This record gives sequence, C-alpha cells and structure tokens, in this order.
Amino acid sequence: MQSNEVNNNKLIDDSIILIVDDEPINATVIEGLLASHFKTHTINCGEEVMSVCDSIKPDLILLDVMLGSMSGLDVCKELKAHPSYKDIPVIFITAIMDQEDQNQCWQAGAVDFVTKPVYGVTLLNRVTAHLTLKKQADLLKQQTQQDSLTGLKNRRSLNTTLTQNLLLAKRHSQALSVLMIDIDWFKQYNDQLGHQQGDNCLIKVATEIKNSINRPTDTTIRYGGEEFLCILPDTDIQGAQFIAHKLLANIKNLAIKHPTTESGIVSISVGSATLSDHKNFTPENLINSADTALYQAKQQGRNRCVCIIATSE
Ligand code: GH3
Ligand code: MG
Ligand code: MG
Repeated sequence: MQSNEVNNNKLIDDSIILIVDDEPINATVIEGLLASHFKTHTINCGEEVMSVCDSIKPDLILLDVMLGSMSGLDVCKELKAHPSYKDIPVIFITAIMDQEDQNQCWQAGAVDFVTKPVYGVTLLNRVTAHLTLKKQADLLKQQTQQDSLTGLKNRRSLNTTLTQNLLLAKRHSQALSVLMIDIDWFKQYNDQLGHQQGDNCLIKVATEIKNSINRPTDTTIRYGGEEFLCILPDTDIQGAQFIAHKLLANIKNLAIKHPTTESGIVSISVGSATLSDHKNFTPENLINSADTALYQAKQQGRNRCVCIIATSE
C-alpha cells in the first residue's frame, strides 16, 4: 500500500486517530499522511490526552515520546493504568531509539513505535495493522457482551462499565444512578402463555427500556432473566426518579396483556440507587443498594419505583 493510496479496509474506515505532538511541523506531517484515510485530531500536550479521549473516543493514539511538560512515556503509562483508556492502542513516534529507549516504549504499554523522520508508507501500514487488530478485538468483545435475545448488553460488561462510570463520576464530581428493573409476575406470564410468548414480551420490554433512556453515555444491560439494569451517569436522585417514572409509564403504554395481574397488563418494578458521595464505592455497593430498593418496590405492591441514596457498606 502506498501512502497516497485509498485505504480499502472497511473495518477501519471510520477510525479516529489522536495525534499528540508538541512540534507543530511534526504534527502537520503526520496529519498529512493520515488525514485522507482516517479522521484525525491533533493536540500538543500530554495533560489533555485523557479529557480528549473522553470527548473524541480515539481508536488509536500516535504519541510523541518527547512532549513538553509531561513525557509521552508517562502519558502512555497513565492511559494503560486506566480502565476507560487501557485498550486504546498507542504507537510512539520517536527520534531517539537505542535499546533502552525501545525497552521503555514497550514497558510503558505501547503496541508499536515509528521512528523519525517518519516514512509515510510504514506509518500508514503500522496504523492500519493495529487498527484492524483493535477493531477485530472490539467486534469479538461486542459479540460476547451482547445478549442474543434482546440485543442489549449482557451481564459480562457490567463490572467494567460500572467501574468506568464510578471513576468518571469521581473525577468530574458528578452524580451516578443505577436502576434495577424487574418485570412483575413474569413467572405466571410464562406459565400461562408459554416460553415463546415470554421471550417476545422480554424483547418488547427490553426495547422500550432502551428507547426510554436517551443520553449516549447511559447504558442498559440485561442483568438476568427478566431483570434489567440502567446505568445513568451525571444523574442525581431526582433525575433517577424521573427516568424510573418514565419507564413505568412507557411499559404501561405498551399494554402487553398479562393473564393474571389485576391491571391485566405487564408492569415493572424499579429500584434506583444514587451515589451519595465519591468515597469507597464499589460496583457491588451500587448494585446491592438498587436491589434493596427493588425489593422494597416489590414489597410495597409492585408496578412502582423506590429511589434511594446508595450506601457504601
Ligand atoms: P416478581 O413480580 O416478584 O418479580 O415475580 P416474577 O414471577 O416475575 O419473578 P420470578 O423471579 O419468580 O420469575 C421470573 C421468571 O422469569 C422465571 C422464568 O419463568 C422467567 N424467565 C427468566 N428468563 C427467561 C427467559 O429468557 N425467557 C422467558 N420466556 N422467561 C424467562
Ligand atoms: Mg426477577
Ligand atoms: Mg419478576
């Protein structure tokens, strides 16, 4: 592949490359080599990398080793130590390259390095190779983390997603709420109408929950058989209450006939837990608190929500 040829790899077509270089001329050259193949975004200091990762979600980072106040090696180490960014491949762009320098690049967690002066064909091929591997790994991960019946994320992704959200909530001093949703009297629904009809009901409820949760940073997970979890960053107890009521109303509006309930239609119960402060919270604390709230909603008669402040015990 020549550096000026159009890249035909569909898997990596929409990739975003973050270029971090404090020398404007270097950044311009690298951008020029890659911009016709990928989306590029350039910054000139290491301190900004994490916040830019939050906003542009790069698929790969090209990182200059010799940055101004924070070295590229330290930036890379920080990225690799953070659950939200550790899987983004980092390729170092470096002028100095004795064995010790190379060791440091690998130890910092880079997947590769390219030496200056940058040879365009090599840079493009290395970037293409690592992006392809990353996208294949992402695809596999997505498939293993998806629930085959409803299309929602399955429980495998829960711990990582909650840990990431807890860290982000702490870093930005923001609220975080978790909603646990359980279909009421679903065993009776299944027993009366059969498993196939039960599955259809689950798909409808899952789709409605997903469609009721609007922010791109929100996550909906199938937690168990007829139980779902919504993770809502930057959402306080009032916000959680609003969403819980919206879910109750939207599921009611589906008007799925239930053979044994008083109302004659399928309803849900919702337990919601909101982070009270940012100390000592684990994913388990939030889940346990949401579960406690859900239990209360069931005890109080179902088809309702109970929203509480989470406790860290
Ligand atoms: P409650 O209001 O207390 O939640 O009562 P419930 O009957 O919904 O709760 P219970 O936990 O006793 O029953 C859950 C039922 O969900 C058991 C099973 O029949 C059904 N179920 C679980 N997973 C699936 C699934 O994948 N497909 C179908 N069709 N049914 C499922
Ligand atoms: Mg249940
Ligand atoms: Mg149930």
